[in-house]
Amino acid sequence: MTDLTRHTAAELAAQLADGTTTSVAVTQAHLDRIAAVDGTIHAFLHVNPELSLAAAAASDARRASGKPLSDLDGVPLAIKDVLVTTDMPSTSGSKILEGWMSPYDATVVTRAREAGLVPLGKTNMDEFAMGSSTEHSAYGPTRNPWDTDRIPGGSGGGSAAAVAAFEAPFALGSDTGGSIRQPAHITGTVGMKPTYGSVSRYGAIALASSLDQVGPCSRTVLDAALLHDVIGGYDRHDSTSLKDAWPSFAEAARSGAQPGSLKGLKVGVVSQYAGEAFQTGVMTRFRESLEMLAAAGAEIVDVSLPSVEHAVAAYYLILPAEASSNLAKFDSVRFGMRATIAGGGTVEQVMSATREAGFGPEVKRRIILGTYALSAGYYDAYYGSAQKVRTLIQRDFDQAFASVDVLATPTAPTTAWKLGEKLDDPLAMYAQDIATIPANLAGIPGISIPSGIAPEDGLPVGIQFLAPARHDAKLYSVAAGLEALLHAQWGGPLTSQAPDFDTAVPTQSARSVSPTQSTRGGA
Ligand code: GLN
Repeated sequence: MTDLTRHTAAELAAQLADGTTTSVAVTQAHLDRIAAVDGTIHAFLHVNPELSLAAAAASDARRASGKPLSDLDGVPLAIKDVLVTTDMPSTSGSKILEGWMSPYDATVVTRAREAGLVPLGKTNMDEFAMGSSTEHSAYGPTRNPWDTDRIPGGSGGGSAAAVAAFEAPFALGSDTGGSIRQPAHITGTVGMKPTYGSVSRYGAIALASSLDQVGPCSRTVLDAALLHDVIGGYDRHDSTSLKDAWPSFAEAARSGAQPGSLKGLKVGVVSQYAGEAFQTGVMTRFRESLEMLAAAGAEIVDVSLPSVEHAVAAYYLILPAEASSNLAKFDSVRFGMRATIAGGGTVEQVMSATREAGFGPEVKRRIILGTYALSAGYYDAYYGSAQKVRTLIQRDFDQAFASVDVLATPTAPTTAWKLGEKLDDPLAMYAQDIATIPANLAGIPGISIPSGIAPEDGLPVGIQFLAPARHDAKLYSVAAGLEALLHAQWGGPLTSQAPDFDTAVPTQSARSVSPTQSTRGGA
């Protein structure tokens, strides 16, 4: 029997449709894989085999009666813990929400359930999605399946690692400054940040509301597109939701994968994303991908986005400002944890003690920074200036897209670094977001797909494509076009080349103590 966890979501859907497998078998295979490897990888914060198997059995029953809910009915899905769920805890990687149960499902979760997808569990993440390595999770880090001494990227390292380690065929993530795309780059997987407002944020625990966007993580472009088709579209619960009618992204990916689809495509290469900050292997694979595009008939031109050099600085004012406001609701009264103080204490003392104990250092750092940036005397100098930079970046993109169809950049400057390496250097961590942040500031879609392995360290790297707002389908088509050429070279998705880590024993110093066990099995 072939290992069901090695198949893509599209392949599993086809096997379910032709009756060669069942959702229970597929789900059990993934639960077994999680049981076998997640002690090492720690991609999941919560799994609940009984719930997953019940959903799988219900899917099989629907199919037996001739009424599958969608093409993906019965395919398992991992869910980033930033998305609230009624049947599993939602912590956003924070101690302050430990064990918290949401009274409602995020819209994307509702839509996944309505399509018959089988939730496998909730994935690990940097606390409140702040970080680029998943080391800021209050529940211990996730490890990179390519090298378990290294980080899986962040904040959605759990979703990316789950997919890369064959614990799930695909997963949901959220991207405020790169948290879907950068982990994809780091783990050799695919990650898509949709156009702002095109996928509902309802039930996504807010980090920075003007930047947050939910999207898919997978091993192939088609799988990301299939999941995007399920979760996307207007939602009346989200006030920034776009009312557009969207084309089928799966259709775009399928036609993009056909020979000849790249002919005449105009690709702008952003000149700012080169030079010293970028690791040699990242640039080597990036240039090779551009050569492949050119050989397939695309026209490659240089494009300058002069204002992106200020993107990281602007983002790290806007994000903390919005986060400081969004996180004010964790006040020890309405959600989650409440610290106890000898003698009771005043409301303010309890609130302060709860936040002191419940928030980690990165979250505290950003709340303080954001509150400062928004304070009366400094508002114009910091927050106001950052918003002006945001406008300049949007204009740069408008100008660029007047002459090219898509832009291409390396997704991030380096390959996966060692656990702990940048933990005490927040600025080094922030610098990892240099190529992903501009898309969030401008609200445009971006996708990262693997472009190969960096020769110097054997670790995966990604290429990012950006398109104008609402042109998500274009990204799926272009990404699928390049992916088809790369897969022909590799003999399949890059993840198949990852070394087997099953027997890898993590070093004691980096091994984390996590509450995972206590929430398993539906506690
Ligand atoms: N690394 C970025 C940050 O720390 C990205 C966060 C995100 O996209 N959620 O803010």
